[in-house]
Order: sequence, then C-alpha cells, then structure tokens
Amino acid sequence: MYRVGLGSDLHRLRPGDGIRLAGVSIPCPWSCDAVSDGDVVLHALADALLGACALGDIGDHFPESKVARGEDSRRFLEAVLELLDLKAARVVNVDCIIDLERPRLSPFKERMRDSLSRSLGLPPDRVNIKAKTGEGLGPVGVGQAVAAQVVALVRMEQGYEEPSAP
Ligand code: MG
Repeated sequence: MYRVGLGSDLHRLRPGDGIRLAGVSIPCPWSCDAVSDGDVVLHALADALLGACALGDIGDHFPESKVARGEDSRRFLEAVLELLDLKAARVVNVDCIIDLERPRLSPFKERMRDSLSRSLGLPPDRVNIKAKTGEGLGPVGVGQAVAAQVVALVRMEQGYEEPSAP
C-alpha cells in the first residue's frame, strides 16, 4: 500500500544574514520572515509527509503560538516522522523543488540532499533536490520570496490495518 503526499511553502525575504534550506545554512544577505528558522523545504516536506498519511498540515500540529523564535525546523520533521511511525508508514522517496532567485543553489544541492537523507534516514538516492529561479518574474523572481514544493511517497508497512470505509 503506497500513498503520495504534496507540500508547498513560501516565505518572504528581508535583509538579513542568511537563510536555512533543507537544514543547511545558505549564506546570503537576507533572512526569512518566519517565527521558526523559516526553512521552506522542511516545512513543505513535513506537509507532504502529513498529506501522504492524511494527517492534516504543519499548522495543525505546530501552531505559531507553540513555535519558538528561530526554532530549528528539523524538530518539526522529527515529530512528523514519529507520527508516521505510529501509522507504520515508511518514507520511500522525496522530490523537492526550491524556488529562489539568488544565490544560485547549485553549490549547495549536494549538502541539502545529504542533510535530508540523514534527517529522513534514507539513502541519498531516494532524495532529490531541484533548484529553480523565478526568471525575474513574480515574488520569487524579484527576490521577495523563497518557496518550495515537495512530493513524497510513503509505504504502509504490513501489519498496518487499513480502517474499513464508513
Ligand atoms: Mg513555513
């Protein structure tokens, strides 16, 4: 039994001293407007995994009132993986798209992949990162935002009893 989930996230950028993407610090002259560390990849990934298991979204589980300023988003992912564990759901693979105009992310893609593969406990060949720009158009293109989309496949392990339809 396989399930697929989709997640997306966007944060506004402002002058600052760097952003976090997929758990990796990216040096640049801006920061994300967010209560947490503003890691759009981890937020979209958490939503994709929750979606695959019909567990709602990241806001249901981590309302802003319960998030510490600058909190490491890997904590959200860890908590989501615990929820998946309770459903005997195992992540098969994830595919991520990051939309950011500058800096170009190609020098960081391998580190981001390693970071996600460690966090998910998956071999690197089950994790993919794509980096795109906004071609100068829209909030990403004019440098006002960073965004991410993630699709995740999970497998429900044998032993998990599919609830019967109402
Ligand atoms: Mg977010």
